[in-house]
Amino acid sequence: MLQRKGESVKTHGVRRVDIPVPAGIQCESVDIPDPSSLRIVKYPNPVLAQVCARIERPDEKLRALTERMFAIMYAAGGVGLAAPQVGLPIRLFVANPTGEPGQQERVYVNPKIVAQSGSITNDEGCLSLPGVVCKIKRHTHVTVRAEDVGGNQFQQTGEDLLARIFQHELDHLNGILIADKMSMVARLANRRAIRDLQQQYADGQSDRSQAGA
Ligand SMILES: [Zn+2]
Repeated sequence: MLQRKGESVKTHGVRRVDIPVPAGIQCESVDIPDPSSLRIVKYPNPVLAQVCARIERPDEKLRALTERMFAIMYAAGGVGLAAPQVGLPIRLFVANPTGEPGQQERVYVNPKIVAQSGSITNDEGCLSLPGVVCKIKRHTHVTVRAEDVGGNQFQQTGEDLLARIFQHELDHLNGILIADKMSMVARLANRRAIRDLQQQYADGQSDRSQAGA
């Protein structure tokens, strides 16, 4: 479930309470690296556990970023990708339930769930947790209100896969991963993949410190 202020949330097995929602950031102040340098950030990189900041007055500055995010998402075989998954803790995600470049591409800036109903438990994966699949219960119908890259508000209702994408990506913007939601059984079934990711992250960190960067 999405966290609200004052609720406690279980993250990486630790119960966090009262996660502060950061102040909004003006779009012109968002520090976007060269889009070609962006890569998928993997668990357990701490940027994935951050509550992301609202983007005040979104503008065209975001377009190159979102185009690159779609390209990264398609290359990885995904249907949704949130900004923290490319290292940027801002409230933005891209989605296309077809997984193929085309008309169903959409960018969601500052998304909020305004209505939800139904529930279904189904397998779910995450581009930041390759090799991990687990059953997650989600609503079947979800309406989001968001802005596009030009700052224009829109509302959209997603069913089934699109509803699942909305909930999964909204979770990312609140620092929540499927690893935080999986059952003990799923945790056991995925323990090797999770351990490998933790090892790869630790190896990457030590490479970086040796290189002095
Ligand atoms: Zn994900």
